[in-house]
Amino acid sequence: MSDCIFCKIIKGEIPSTKIYEDDEFFAFKDLNPQAPIHTLVVPKKHITSLMDMEEADAPLMGRLLYRAQEIAKLQGLGEGGARFVFNCKGDAGQTVWHIHCHILGGKRLDDGFG
Ligand code: IMP
Repeated sequence: MSDCIFCKIIKGEIPSTKIYEDDEFFAFKDLNPQAPIHTLVVPKKHITSLMDMEEADAPLMGRLLYRAQEIAKLQGLGEGGARFVFNCKGDAGQTVWHIHCHILGGKRLDDGFG
């Protein structure tokens, strides 16, 4: 999608700190980290929100979860653990309309879900 900032990051049109890339997924550091490790994992396919995915996207999203936990381990979170978050639509605070999985870790996250 031409005006999507995450599509532009995937294409290299907006700079990012890349953590991982393959044919289907791109992972990069969040610009405004909420934890010592805060990485975003996105599918290269533009899907606006987890709650807008189609059933045909289920295998892709399954692979995204597998990659996300691998990427968390690559970043040293295998022992301590991590939080994997999808904010979906307005009430959840979604601000970028390209589905993304937040990986948060590197400290004890005692702040509940807020
Ligand atoms: P959301 O609130 O779940 O939609 O999360 C969007 C995330 O994207 C926020 O944590 C932002 O800090 C992050 N973000 C927005 N623009 C950029 C960028 O250009 N590079 C990296 N992260 C970004």
